[in-house]
Amino acid sequence: MGKVGKGKACDIEGCQNLAERSLPFDRVEKALMAVKGSEGRRVYLCKVHYKELKKKLRDDRKVEKWKRDSKL
Ligand SMILES: [Zn+2]
Repeated sequence: MGKVGKGKACDIEGCQNLAERSLPFDRVEKALMAVKGSEGRRVYLCKVHYKELKKKLRDDRKVEKWKRDSKL
């Protein structure tokens, strides 16, 4: 995951912000975010959506942990 150069727009549906990060497509798909369709295997995200993604992935992990713990 690297910094993205200026000029690339965020790949999330309806977002006009400039992208700051790129991530593997499956990672973003897992967070159930509305991607416009990506060029290849990477999705470009603006600062706002990158934060949102991180938050969603964190919540996912919490749920996974809860599922695991509840089986014990
Ligand atoms: Zn965005």
